[in-house]
Amino acid sequence: MENMKPESLMMSHGFKPELSEGSVKPPIFLTSTFVFKTAEEGKAFFELAYGLRTKDQNEELGLIYSRINNPNLEILEDRLCLWDKAEDCAVFQSGMSAISTVLLEFLKPGDLLLYSRPVYGGTDHFISHVLKELHIDSIGFSPEQTKEEIIALIKQSGKEQKLSMIYMETPSNPTGELIDIEMCREIADTFSNPDKKVYVATDNTYMGPLWSSPLSFGADIVIYSATKYIGGHSDLIAGAVLGNAEVMHRIKVLRTFLGNMPSPHTCWLLLRSLETLKVRMEQQAKNAQEVASFLESHDKISRVYYLDSIPETSRSYAIYKKQYTSPGAMISFEIKGTEKDAFVFLNKLKLIKLAVSLGSTESLIQHPASMTHIGIDPEERKKIGITEGLIRLSIGIENYEDVIMDIKNALEG
Ligand SMILES: *Cc1c(COP(=O)(O)O)cnc(C)c1O
Repeated sequence: MENMKPESLMMSHGFKPELSEGSVKPPIFLTSTFVFKTAEEGKAFFELAYGLRTKDQNEELGLIYSRINNPNLEILEDRLCLWDKAEDCAVFQSGMSAISTVLLEFLKPGDLLLYSRPVYGGTDHFISHVLKELHIDSIGFSPEQTKEEIIALIKQSGKEQKLSMIYMETPSNPTGELIDIEMCREIADTFSNPDKKVYVATDNTYMGPLWSSPLSFGADIVIYSATKYIGGHSDLIAGAVLGNAEVMHRIKVLRTFLGNMPSPHTCWLLLRSLETLKVRMEQQAKNAQEVASFLESHDKISRVYYLDSIPETSRSYAIYKKQYTSPGAMISFEIKGTEKDAFVFLNKLKLIKLAVSLGSTESLIQHPASMTHIGIDPEERKKIGITEGLIRLSIGIENYEDVIMDIKNALEG
């Protein structure tokens, strides 16, 4: 089975039916604690959990207590590793708890963080308020900036010795600007030395795990809001982090003490979602292609942001072709007019749900300037393309003709 594709292994990998009365599917292990066979076994499990000795060959960390491990959580982590070809994975209660745990583990007071802008609003708040209070400085860079410009930015800060992490979100939300992960790796290596490695972390929520594999472009850490495509049914909140064994050991130890792991029930729902991940995402992308071409031809729409619409001569196009295998299922577009015109359109939709979030089976639509991005300074907002007429659309698995009809009726009706 080793060399089979992830979609073939999503129904079986990491689960032994003989340990669960022959169940085809993993039961939900609603238990807080696990019985040790002997005191010696309990001691051996704790020695591993606390890193007091290394694993013997073929030894696995035994089940101790559901804050540390639980079968549903472990099966989910094993399966997520297959998509990103990662050595290990840690799942979390939310995307934000995944992000904040990574930042807290790899940044210490006095350190410098370089991060792409714009990032998810919660991430931006955590960096500019919570990390700032812990005396962790940050510098933002924008997708247009070149490697040389970004290196100059770090040097100008006078804190280049303290650079500890480059954090990026690509494509950016809501206009789909792209960041070159290999470029960030090169910048990180420029400032790394034998005593201090600069880590590269990528929020891959928008395109992963199907259409982009940041670890293969040199990222050390991949982060997901599993609330989005991985969960995919708008019925749970969760997060995930993937990377090599060394990085993940650090993250799992901090998770043990923050206690921000997801419940067995959430993990079980995610296992169910993973079985259909590929078919869902592929159908969403196929539908998005149809919807994007409809929007591009409509005279009430002044601009469409969609990865397949990037001009072939631009720098972004080269990054798109290198880093992604699909244009994805997110589209943003600008309605001619003001906020009022955008709201009239949104209020007329019948099939598409007016709600934030993305990557789900149903199509979701929202108005970034007054919703997800309302916290951004209006000048800055305009600079990054978030106008009053901008609408963000996440395409679901409905029949695309119905989605197009809904949009057409709301634009013209
Ligand atoms: C939703 C989202 C998050 C936050 O995840 P939660 O699961 O809501 O905590 C982080 N990054 C991106 C890109 C997101 O879309």
